[in-house]
Amino acid sequence: MSRLAQTHGLTDVQTEILSTVRDFVDKEIIPVATELEHRDEYPQDIVDGLKELGLFGLMIPEEYGGLGESLLTYALCVEEIARGWMSVSGIINTHFIVAYMLKQHGTQEQKDHFLPRMAAGDIRGAFSMSEPALGSDVSAISSKAVRDGDEYVLNGQKMWLTNGGTSSLVAVLVKSDEGHPEGTAAHKSMTTFLVEKEPGFGEVRPGLTIPGKIDKMGYKGVDTTELIMDGLRVPADRVLGGVTGRGFYQMMDGVEVGRVNVAARGCGVAQRAFELGVQYAQQRHTFGKQIAQHQAIQFKLAEMATKVEAAHAMMVNAARKKDSGERNDLEAGMAKYLASEYCKEVVEDAFRIHGGYGFSKEYEIERLYREAPMLLIGEGTAEIQKMIIGRRLLEEYRFQG
Ligand SMILES: Cc1cc2nc3c(=O)[nH]c(=O)nc-3n(C[C@H](O)[C@H](O)[C@H](O)COP(=O)(O)OP(=O)(O)OC[C@H]3O[C@@H](n4cnc5c(N)ncnc54)[C@H](O)[C@@H]3O)c2cc1C
Repeated sequence: MSRLAQTHGLTDVQTEILSTVRDFVDKEIIPVATELEHRDEYPQDIVDGLKELGLFGLMIPEEYGGLGESLLTYALCVEEIARGWMSVSGIINTHFIVAYMLKQHGTQEQKDHFLPRMAAGDIRGAFSMSEPALGSDVSAISSKAVRDGDEYVLNGQKMWLTNGGTSSLVAVLVKSDEGHPEGTAAHKSMTTFLVEKEPGFGEVRPGLTIPGKIDKMGYKGVDTTELIMDGLRVPADRVLGGVTGRGFYQMMDGVEVGRVNVAARGCGVAQRAFELGVQYAQQRHTFGKQIAQHQAIQFKLAEMATKVEAAHAMMVNAARKKDSGERNDLEAGMAKYLASEYCKEVVEDAFRIHGGYGFSKEYEIERLYREAPMLLIGEGTAEIQKMIIGRRLLEEYRFQG
């Protein structure tokens, strides 16, 4: 059942990795996903399996013990995993953003210290920009770091950390006034700190509290938390890249990887919704025939499949652009925007095809229906993507009159 969403030009290694992941998803994730999700249970066995497959090191360079694969390979794996259960893709996503930021911006000591254990899945990453009063408007961050000898003292409250409880390394974005006097542009006075902590909830390190899991409508299983810093002391050598004031750019670079990831999740969830819809449409009969034989249902299936194809093509294009070393904010923004909107529409159509049964928790589509909306928000809302796309278009198509 994989006529849709083919990717041309993959290497033998990529094809093999993807077929292994697909097999794992079909055997180990899909059969248990809905039950675990309803119980909001952390999928420990699945995470152990991903660790065994080496997936936590997928994009980490081989010199640090990873597989050294491209963003495209990673995105295609995420698509497969989200097809099985979106929450599992959330477990690896923030890990990858942090590993990517370390690889691109970390000092040699930071890479040597973190990347080998991240590749093995022994250290798992979370990343933290959002605060209770802001998500889209990152420049309004109010958490602060103040230098005190060889350390910084961090205070403030962060919000919506995916893997906040289960991670042991959090990349935290805060304002830092050192060397950046009052009046410096907000994006030049932010710093990313690499904060190590014990996994779990409560006071996980002196001055650092993870209060508990946020109760969500969907995207369950993976923990999403707040993070409270109250006099948290972080050594100066845990400033990402060793220099303050670069945090905003480092995070935005990481978010571009995250946007391709969210697009890939949208593709995976939409594919699963299509699979469920096309199967159900051939089982259910009304007015003496399969509902798939009613033209209205066939049109729905046609629209769904077209959206699955279009989203996949845009996601692959955005990943390839980043892999080529070129700026990909336009492509990543477009892919994230289109794939998340299409995902919501495809899921809704599959839900409608299921009639009343789609409303029953016994049917997988009920879970997908609660998962799809998260993609409209995470890594920047549709409005934020459109702002990025619009600005870039005006740069590219500057009026020369
Ligand atoms: C399940 C989940 C997991 C998350 N995980 C993480 C994580 O791991 N790390 C992290 O840092 N964050 C995380 N987030 C936070 C997420 O990135 C933010 O929720 C998102 O960026 C939106 O921010 P907000 O919720 O503050 O909404 P707001 O920024 O308050 O926006 C509210 C509404 O106003 C619109 N809006 C805002 N500004 C404009 C504008 N200029 N023009 C037009 N419309 C505008 C928005 O599009 C939206 O519709 C997570 C969120 C969720 C729900």
